[in-house]
Amino acid sequence: MERISTVSAMQARAEALRLDGRRIGFIPTMGYLHEGHLSLIDEAKRDSDITILSIFVNPAQFGPNEDYNSYPGDIARDELLAEKRGVDIVFYPSVEEMYPHKQLTWVNVETVTEVLCGASRDGHFRGVSTVVAKLFNIVKPHVAVFGQKDAQQVAVIQKMVDDLNMNVIIRIAPIVREPNGLAMSSRNIRLTPEDRKNAVILSQVLFRAKDGILKGESISSVLAAATKDIQAVAHADLEYIEALSYPDLGPMTDFNNDLLIALAVRFGNVRLIDNILIKKSS
Ligand code: AMP
Repeated sequence: MERISTVSAMQARAEALRLDGRRIGFIPTMGYLHEGHLSLIDEAKRDSDITILSIFVNPAQFGPNEDYNSYPGDIARDELLAEKRGVDIVFYPSVEEMYPHKQLTWVNVETVTEVLCGASRDGHFRGVSTVVAKLFNIVKPHVAVFGQKDAQQVAVIQKMVDDLNMNVIIRIAPIVREPNGLAMSSRNIRLTPEDRKNAVILSQVLFRAKDGILKGESISSVLAAATKDIQAVAHADLEYIEALSYPDLGPMTDFNNDLLIALAVRFGNVRLIDNILIKKSS
């Protein structure tokens, strides 16, 4: 497995791969890899012959009171896991390499960034779309894989790619969960053992909500039940639970669109997100 840490070396390597007729599959991550990330590698490999995984904790997507400085990291472990899963190149730039000068150019996707996590994390999605655009210009992928775990992020990136005519196919991989249903996340490691057990409530309420909707219950009644169930759990501080049409993230007026039920819950200073998609045909 190759390791590349400068933008110029990565761009030269990607250009050479393209000239050689290779199809580049790309998996952007913030590291501290788990099975959720590794499943994206499998997905990328299905549609490419070279896989490039980036590890970059992007300061531009963290607010001043968020967990940038305590975000978990272990590059040696990540490299072992990536290599075992068949990654060809790990791109691991420093902050100075990615942001050598004050960034004056930002990608700002409108509307879909104003709800759910965008409502409370001011500037978060501007940081995400900007770094993903930069990474696409550096890694030059044919295909990039993102996890449904971050459903709003997927909607934002797909919109950016469409609106800016970026020549990249976006693939979406399903949410990988712990055996008890908790969605895998690099942040789970920061939960206390008790909170980690209690955090199972996130997926439980989502599965119940989906069942309720499929049985014909109203959106407002399933959301009310889910809210009550979360509020009954020790230390669980509900930031939001909402049902929106997907991927446009507008109000759900009828069942002609997929329905996304998404939530964010804090346990102490650990903020967890999860979601479930109800396909219009299901
Ligand atoms: P992160 O390192 O948190 O920025 O995540 C990098 C990529 O992995 C994003 O596309 C995430 O949506 C995806 N991802 C994170 N957790 C999971 C999970 N449990 N299942 C599937 N994809 C995931």
